[in-house]
Amino acid sequence: MSSTPIASKIIPKATRAKIDPNVVQYTSEKQKLALQALIEEFTITPELFQAIKRNFMEGMLKGLKKDGETMAMVTSYVIGRLDGSETGSYLALDVGGTNLRVVSVHLTGGGEINTRQTKYRIDEHLKVGDAKSLFDFMAVCVDSFLDEHQIVVRGDSQIELGFTFSFPVLQTAINRGTLISWTKGFNAAGMVGKDPVAFLQDAFNRRHIPVRVAALVNDTVGTLLAHAYTHPNTIMGVILGTGCNGAYIEKVSNIEKWKGKTPADEMIINMEFGAFDKERQILPLTMFDNKLDRKSVNPNKQILEKMIAGMYLGEITRNVLLNLIDRRLLFEGHISPDLNHMWTFETAYMSTIEADNTPTLHATRKILESTLSFPQTTLNDRQIVKIVVELVGMRAARLSAAAIAAILDHTGAWKVKSDIGIDGSLFEYYPSFDTDIMDGLEEAFGPEARKNVSIGLAQDGSGVGAALCALLAAKHGTA
Ligand code: ADP
Ligand code: MG
Repeated sequence: MSSTPIASKIIPKATRAKIDPNVVQYTSEKQKLALQALIEEFTITPELFQAIKRNFMEGMLKGLKKDGETMAMVTSYVIGRLDGSETGSYLALDVGGTNLRVVSVHLTGGGEINTRQTKYRIDEHLKVGDAKSLFDFMAVCVDSFLDEHQIVVRGDSQIELGFTFSFPVLQTAINRGTLISWTKGFNAAGMVGKDPVAFLQDAFNRRHIPVRVAALVNDTVGTLLAHAYTHPNTIMGVILGTGCNGAYIEKVSNIEKWKGKTPADEMIINMEFGAFDKERQILPLTMFDNKLDRKSVNPNKQILEKMIAGMYLGEITRNVLLNLIDRRLLFEGHISPDLNHMWTFETAYMSTIEADNTPTLHATRKILESTLSFPQTTLNDRQIVKIVVELVGMRAARLSAAAIAAILDHTGAWKVKSDIGIDGSLFEYYPSFDTDIMDGLEEAFGPEARKNVSIGLAQDGSGVGAALCALLAAKHGTA
């Protein structure tokens, strides 16, 4: 089994350059009507925004009451707040999306952190193969990381590792849990109902790798902790990457289903909010969402995630474009063979198209003609593509805002100075995602929310955060 580090690409963040659908020269009345219908279908009106937020709050209460609800509201066993003075050296292993990462984290105190990391691509066959091969691959990556960075472990000692495993897990201790279901394209056999920590520790032990899995961490919880290390008012961690999810600090007295013992009066809850509205009661699902869901590896699950997250936005856009092409309303009905295949329209293209402020939509043209091999495109084609991208992107941002607003309302945190740490490439690179979310919060609470609440890019939630979780586990003796 080989583990190959991959280089990461950095794309600078830009702002959204919106097209006014009223200035587009439509090629026909039919095209104009089709666009209007799409705009209506994809717009989250203020009324719908409030209704989704209300429904989301009800879902939170249900999940806090008992297990097995749509939003799992997982008790993370993470207690205790951070103040940035914590010190120590840890490893983090981040699994749960596009890449696997190994990170070494050195906390120097004073809110300062040094990290070194290597990313490895997880082959598709490993994601859907047998669980043992997948966990062996993880152990191999950690082993090669230790070699690469010449991290030597003396005698019988072991390095403590925080394992960020970002799938729905029913946590039973800070370093134990069972997988509820796979998401985000993973479906390795024989894992549901099992403990990922046991699988990972076993893979380390078999290879005599001197690492102890000290904490099982959801990336949302890690994001909250990582942000809290530098922003002590942090009350929420959100992921907007391959998938979407959030964690927040809850009063133990509000967690009706909690039967355990804890000396603390607060605990971090991993909400698993990507699963929201499995019942399809409130989210405005379109035929394009339904098509995506039906063809996914987890149909009928993670309904909200499939409308928000980076893994899916490009595919929703592709579905809309195909529909317009098939109705001969785009590219004169011609398709590039590239676009015939699922997942070929990457969410990263949407960021480029959103930021395209050239009169001829030059960047959009480059994606369509150079990357996706359309022989030629007209300005009208490019404008239509851009509007579709904007609709899909804006809907995702507003749904994210509705979820965040619901948590702020539930906790009352919008009334006081509060920080929210957000991690994930979608939030980091998608133009204006942050301002769209802030606009949504203002819509929910008025201008006071803008003064009190700050959202910011969290510093490596799943690396630094996992290390901080391993540290808290040791500190509170729960590991
Ligand atoms: P993960 O969630 O797996 O930890 P990331 O946070 O990097 O990883 O998120 C990866 C997701 O972000 C992918 O689904 C990808 O489509 C999306 N993504 C990557 N680059 C961009 C970009 N420039 N703009 C928008 N989305 C992006
Ligand atoms: Mg991540």
